[in-house]
Amino acid sequence: MRRLPFDPVAPLLPLPSLLEAVLHLLDDGIAVLGKDGRIVFANEEMERALCLEGTALVGAIGSEALVEFFPDASSLRPNKHAAGVPARRVERMTAAGPRVYEVSVEGLAQGALVVRAKDISSRVEAERLARSQLAENESFRVVACLMAEERDVRQVLELLSAQAAAQCEGDGATVIQIEGERGRAVASVGLLTPLRGREFLMGGSLAESVIRNRTSVAITDFLTQYPDHPWSDAAREVGAGPVVLAPLFAHDSLMGIVTVVRERGREAFADPEIRRIRALADQAALALWKSRLLDEAEAANQAKDEFIAVISHELRTPLAAVAGYEELLAEEILGPLNEEQHNAVDRMRWSTKLLTSIIEEILTFSRLETGEVHLNAESTSVRALLSSAGAVVEPLATARGLAFSINAPNEKIPLTTDADVVRRVLVNLGSNAAKFTQRGGVELNGMRVGSRVCLAVRDSGIGIAEVDLRRIFDAFTQVHTGTARPYGGTGLGLHTAHRLARLVGGELTVESTPDRGSTFSLLLPLTLPAAGLADRGSTQR
Ligand code: ADP
Repeated sequence: MRRLPFDPVAPLLPLPSLLEAVLHLLDDGIAVLGKDGRIVFANEEMERALCLEGTALVGAIGSEALVEFFPDASSLRPNKHAAGVPARRVERMTAAGPRVYEVSVEGLAQGALVVRAKDISSRVEAERLARSQLAENESFRVVACLMAEERDVRQVLELLSAQAAAQCEGDGATVIQIEGERGRAVASVGLLTPLRGREFLMGGSLAESVIRNRTSVAITDFLTQYPDHPWSDAAREVGAGPVVLAPLFAHDSLMGIVTVVRERGREAFADPEIRRIRALADQAALALWKSRLLDEAEAANQAKDEFIAVISHELRTPLAAVAGYEELLAEEILGPLNEEQHNAVDRMRWSTKLLTSIIEEILTFSRLETGEVHLNAESTSVRALLSSAGAVVEPLATARGLAFSINAPNEKIPLTTDADVVRRVLVNLGSNAAKFTQRGGVELNGMRVGSRVCLAVRDSGIGIAEVDLRRIFDAFTQVHTGTARPYGGTGLGLHTAHRLARLVGGELTVESTPDRGSTFSLLLPLTLPAAGLADRGSTQR
């Protein structure tokens, strides 16, 4: 309870007319009760709040006159306890419409009370609006997220038509996709469900102006306002009254039109509802645009994969023939060669081998992309794997004047894996090691590490800067780029090796210091995980 700092009532009862006049000017309803519980004064606002305009409240028993505010008469008993009643909210229907009052009681000296009724209707309405706006925004946010996440165009269209109707209390909605002179209802709900799949003439329709002006159109009663519209038969058939049409535009591309309707006789769509339909249409248009881009990107990617697969396959056949003829020449089956001719044939064979390995790399990449790499588990050992890879890597290293060694423990470390896949990874790492090393050597090391084995390819070459380490496993990535780069290659080797390593349940990591060298480590489980085999089923490679 708050006490007034002075005691205006006791000496002034009854209130002088000047004070009364001032109290009548207040926006709050004021009633003063004497200690006998009778009303000594009530201003006009209090009379309005009690719907007792013009009634002489003075002299009335407070608890009776103010019963609408204080159903419990004890609240107005002139004692300290009564004066401590907390402020309460009371809703009333007054001559000026529904009102909400915050009613409080303050105690004065000598047991008098002041009852105050503050009209808080606008504040309450503002709070209600803010709450409903918040709820609306939240549901809108959820729908926008759903649309943004949806990948399938059909689902986006279904979601749009359902939400366009739901968010604006529509009885039906449809999305029309424009196909030249005509539009087709591709997704419909509620009242407009029978129109699904139907075609509409665009010429002379409201859709034309919606598209031309890129803005929505709202109609109070379609058939009254547009009795001869090309779509009026359909509107009559479904009983559409109020209609809103909004265009689906994203980045200058027209994706269609969304139409929301209410049954004939229902009230027209309000401005906030039209705004919501427009906002929903904008969100949906972006989602459709994204889906379209993704579809195009996917189609382009598929075309690229197919092209790579076909072209590398087509190159492999003639290359095999070239390699065969080179073999015949080198073996002098087609006639004797002098030294110069032998050298030329050797260079041809070297280039053919390089070309073959590049084509094989591209083929493996394309098979990985299309999920066509199949595994074949077999028993092997660390030393056997290192030796078979070493058979390819050693000549590459020694040809560049580099030392080469294989280091593995004497005891046999058996493992079950796809030996061909592991060999391919090691050959790839070993070829890189030889390619990027000018001095020193290349080592293939093997050891057991707990329940796994580690096959490591170490070189003393140019190394890789830390900033480049993060991206070297990405497809088509090379540290040195441009046509003048000092090293050849496709930029696919490490990417493919990394993916093949994962395929056999392994992990490929790298440690490197510029100008000191690099170590690529392949950690493999002792047994090929069942998932690797089960996923791919066959032994085809
Ligand atoms: P590329 O066919 O170009 O060799 P890779 O995918 O095998 O493609 O390697 C990608 C890049 O990683 C190489 O271009 C090179 O810059 C770097 N790189 C790979 N291995 C080594 C290595 N042992 N030493 C230094 N750099 C390497």
